[in-house]
Amino acid sequence: MGEKAKIVIIGGGIAGCSTLYHLAKMGCTDALLLERDELTSGSTWHAAGNVPTYSTSWSIMQVQKYSAALYRELAKDKDFPINYHVTGSVRLAHSEERMAEFRHVKSMARANNMEYDMLTPAQLVDKYPLIKTHDLLGALWDPLDGDIDPSQVTQALARAARALGARVRRNERVVGLRQNKNFGWTVTSKTAEGETEIDCQIVINAAGYRAGEVMALIGRHLPIMTMAHQYLITEEIDELAARTEPLPLLRDPDTSYYLRQERNGYILGPYEWQATPMWLDGIPDQFANMLWPEELERLEKQILDAGERVPVLGDAGIAKVVNGPIPYAPDGNPYLGPERSLRNFFHCNTFSFGIAQGGGAGKAIAEWVLNGRPEFDLWSIDRRRYKSYATTQYTVDKAVEVYQNEYAMGFPFEERPAGRPAYVSPLYEKLKKKGASYGARGGWERPTYFDPNNEVTDHSLSFFRRNGWRKVVAKEVHAARNGVAILDLPGFTKIEVKGAGAFAFLDKLLCTKIPKVGRISLVYALLPDGKVLSEFTVVRVAQDEFYLVGAASSEWHDLDVLEVALPNDGSVTLKNVTADYGSLIVVGPRSRDVLAQVTTSALDNESFPWLSMRMIDTKFGPVRALRVNYVGELGWELHASNEQMVALYDAIWKAGEKHAIADMGIYAVDSLRLDKCYRGWKGDLEIGFSPFDASLDRFVDLTKASFVGKDALVAEKAAGPRYRFVPMILDQDGDADAPFCSSVFSGDKRVGIVTSGGWSFTLDKSIALAYVRPEFEASGTKLEIEIFGERKPATVGQEPLFDPRNERLRA
Ligand SMILES: Cc1cc2nc3c(=O)[nH]c(=O)nc-3n(C[C@H](O)[C@H](O)[C@H](O)COP(=O)(O)OP(=O)(O)OC[C@H]3O[C@@H](n4cnc5c(N)ncnc54)[C@H](O)[C@@H]3O)c2cc1C
Repeated sequence: MGEKAKIVIIGGGIAGCSTLYHLAKMGCTDALLLERDELTSGSTWHAAGNVPTYSTSWSIMQVQKYSAALYRELAKDKDFPINYHVTGSVRLAHSEERMAEFRHVKSMARANNMEYDMLTPAQLVDKYPLIKTHDLLGALWDPLDGDIDPSQVTQALARAARALGARVRRNERVVGLRQNKNFGWTVTSKTAEGETEIDCQIVINAAGYRAGEVMALIGRHLPIMTMAHQYLITEEIDELAARTEPLPLLRDPDTSYYLRQERNGYILGPYEWQATPMWLDGIPDQFANMLWPEELERLEKQILDAGERVPVLGDAGIAKVVNGPIPYAPDGNPYLGPERSLRNFFHCNTFSFGIAQGGGAGKAIAEWVLNGRPEFDLWSIDRRRYKSYATTQYTVDKAVEVYQNEYAMGFPFEERPAGRPAYVSPLYEKLKKKGASYGARGGWERPTYFDPNNEVTDHSLSFFRRNGWRKVVAKEVHAARNGVAILDLPGFTKIEVKGAGAFAFLDKLLCTKIPKVGRISLVYALLPDGKVLSEFTVVRVAQDEFYLVGAASSEWHDLDVLEVALPNDGSVTLKNVTADYGSLIVVGPRSRDVLAQVTTSALDNESFPWLSMRMIDTKFGPVRALRVNYVGELGWELHASNEQMVALYDAIWKAGEKHAIADMGIYAVDSLRLDKCYRGWKGDLEIGFSPFDASLDRFVDLTKASFVGKDALVAEKAAGPRYRFVPMILDQDGDADAPFCSSVFSGDKRVGIVTSGGWSFTLDKSIALAYVRPEFEASGTKLEIEIFGERKPATVGQEPLFDPRNERLRA
């Protein structure tokens, strides 16, 4: 009889050990960690051990905050001391833009109960007497930052897990994985003595830079690559030896390095421009506990710069250089959560900042595995955010770009070029020639704006309302509101659901009433605890046939949501038709006049009302037309085959010329949707909030016999809402719109959080969409939004802010 365990974790670095610890802590002690060499022998042993809580991402900040708190607890164990120095850190700002970014992160940190502060140059010198500040505007102080011995903390996690009853085996390598009929796994491991088979229910891939090798065991691809990353350690410096207090960690993001006191010397760790991908032909089998030879010349710029910033460093000799492997995903974030369409297989790998994130990630993955969801939304690190376009070459190109920009400012509307285009519409080349700029969403290239007359001369990025494209986007918005505009929007997730059991399946899965034949509804799938999991536009094509449309990035996520819930009696089939159809959006008061010249099908309100679907005839064959749109105007989404797209676009354009039809991009759509308070999936809607929190009550049908999450929503209804989703308008325009995760205040009380902010070119106002405590939801309520450190008065509005009775949509 083979060996058994409930859960097998592959890999004993910080991620695997933290996962094991958290599983055991949550009561699942029947967990076995297999490590091919010694614990920490991958990337963990040689990490510099910095543990920042800072992140411009809300969810990553929470992961890191948890790690730091956990490590502080572990370090209290006097029997097994861990070198953990909570020194605080200073991040230097050379520009107003950087100061703005820091002020926003400070506000996010404070919303997470972390007391970051902004420092003037003089205050910076108080914290860091050895620094030169002549060219600095200020700095950000994070009191919780510090450094930990990465091996000690990993061993502490493994020891604590073992003490709870979990198992760790070293020098045992996973060489085979086989899924069984009951969706459990048989793991084949290999030691010097031979091979063992272990039957388990769940596998967690925590194999660090070898996570791709593990996926290859089951014939799957993981978008991961390895980068060579270095830091140097200096010899002892007298001025540091003379100090009684350790210096805080110093990061100069604009020059791209960190500088940390290490005993009486320094560690200097740059993210250099010349990023160095390694192992493009595979990882050498024997590589463990190893480093590469130093390549100091790559770091010259940062070494010189740091020496000028902190002159005592300039004279110090270099004692040692560490050049080790660090795994990268295309966006530099790790992979957590389930593998697409594979039951009981989870990821906790590809960490570029695994010491800072390992503690929190271990907790999150343990929750995901045992409770079906992590505590907070982690879409930004969910494995399924990358679909098959993320090839090895794409991953390398993007990872190099992200490494080079590791400390760069996270400007909104930045469309980085590497690895693109991945997926394009048949109209891509044509629209480029017409002046389209492009941005990639879920791998799909989408026009961001059109500049046919080369009016946009300033392409610089900013947190402030300064983008050079504003005037051309304003024209696109004007066309959509007053005439007619057309947008090529490829990549929507499109799934056909058919069969005798299709209605019952969707009715059970969705909290919303299922539409009648020919009709369309916006519908929501919830988690059992009533929080929002997926959003679809559902079209009932026939009695037993549905067409579901979701966000471009949601394809793998939503397929999982549907597939897992599918009845196993064969009464329902799913077909992913995402790549088979494009969508042309034709909107505006003149859109009917234009479309009427392209089809003989009736478009009048009686024949084709708002929220309905018809097959319309065109010269190029029948086209599925949906009378819905994301901008709040009379208009249609035309879901046409790839073969039809170019001819259909040309015909619409020709018909639209006498109505001054305009091409439109997604920046215009984003402004238009704010007027109507249309939510965005994973921006405004995520697993932290229920549909009642999101003020989506009209999409919840509690009269249905049952649906996933119903009990939780019934209880929530009885208890009253925790939040309400409201639009807010800034009382004075100011020079910036509210960034994602701005805090909302009533007096000194933090009462909400902004999930979307932007400029309405229709209302000429700055709009924010926010979750606020229910007592503040009434229209006219005066609140304040903290925008880049300044509290700006704002007034709660009534949803929608434009065309309150949807008369334009029904026109
Ligand atoms: C120079 C340098 C400095 C760094 N500094 C920092 C820092 O200051 N802060 C920070 O947060 N991060 C830092 N990092 C990144 C950090 O080291 C990694 O993110 C982190 O160690 C990843 O941990 P892990 O557990 O995911 O992977 P690993 O530590 O690589 O662990 C994976 C384990 O899986 C095992 N394994 C692989 N395949 C198998 C198999 N088939 N069977 C069984 N076992 C297997 C491996 O042997 C390995 O032990 C640094 C990295 C480098 C290179």
